[in-house]
Amino acid sequence: GLSIENVTKRFGETEVLKGVSLDIADGEFVSLVGPSGCGKSTLLRIIAGLEDQSSGDIRIGGQSVAGQRAADRNLSMVFQSYALYPHLSVGENIAVPLRMRRLNSLQRLPLVGRLLPGTRAQSRDIGQQVAQAAEMLEIAHLLDRKPGQLSGGQRQRVALGRALVREPAAFLLDEPLSNLDAKLRVQTRAEIAELHRRLAATFVYVTHDQVEAMTMSDRIAVMMGGRILQCAPPDVVYDDPDRIEVAEFIGSPK
Ligand code: ATP
Ligand code: MG
Repeated sequence: GLSIENVTKRFGETEVLKGVSLDIADGEFVSLVGPSGCGKSTLLRIIAGLEDQSSGDIRIGGQSVAGQRAADRNLSMVFQSYALYPHLSVGENIAVPLRMRRLNSLQRLPLVGRLLPGTRAQSRDIGQQVAQAAEMLEIAHLLDRKPGQLSGGQRQRVALGRALVREPAAFLLDEPLSNLDAKLRVQTRAEIAELHRRLAATFVYVTHDQVEAMTMSDRIAVMMGGRILQCAPPDVVYDDPDRIEVAEFIGSPK
C-alpha cells in the first residue's frame, strides 16, 4: 500500500499542506478533488519525490521513501501537459523509462556497463515491452510518429504508455484529461478505468471533474486548504458528507 503520514509542506511563510494523512491499499483507485490551490498537485509531487515535504513521511509497501530519488520510487506520474519529448518518436518516448532504468543499473556496475552497452537481446526486450504497452493503449499504429503529429488524446495515451512500462507500484495522475475535449475525455476515462482493472495497480488521480471522480474511484479524498476533509467511497461522499464544506464543494457546479 501507499501511506501518507502527516505530511506538511511550506513554501516560505505559507503552509500549503497542513498535515495530510491517507492510507491507500494496493490496487485501490483514489481520486483527489478540491478547489484550485488546495494542494493536490503539491501532494502528488511529494509522493512522487519531485518535491520534498517539510515534515511527515511517505511509505510504499511499508518502507519509508524519505530521501529516495523520484527515479527510484517505483511510481509513475502523468501530468496534464503530457511532457513528451518532441524530437523522439512515440515508441522512443515510451521506451525512455526503460532505457533510463538500464542506464542507472549499468552505472552501478561501471565495468559491466562498459562491456555490455545495450546488447541486442536487451533492445529486443525493450521493444517487446513498448509494443505490449502500445497494444494495450491502442496506439501500436502510431509508434513511428512524433508527438507533434498526434491528437491530444493520442498524446495522453503515449504518456500513459510511458508510465505503464515502468510497471510501477502506483500511478499518480494529475488532471491527465483536462486538456481533452468532452468526447475524448469520456473515452480516455473509460480507458484509464480499464487499465486500472487489467493492471490491478494503485491509482491516485487528481481531477476537477466530479463525474470522473464519481465513476472511477474506490474512494474520493476531498481536500481543502491543505487538509483532507473526508476520504470515502463516492456514494458516501455524495450522500453522507461528514462536513458542510464537503457538501458545499461536492454540491457546487464546478
Ligand atoms: P489546481 O487545482 O489549481 O491545480 P492544486 O490543488 O493542485 O491547484 P497546488 O499546485 O498544489 O494546488 O498549490 C497549492 C498552493 O501552493 C497554491 O497556493 C500554490 O500557489 C502554492 N505553490 C505551489 N507550488 C509553489 C511553489 N513552488 N512556490 C510557492 N508556492 C507554491
Ligand atoms: Mg494542480
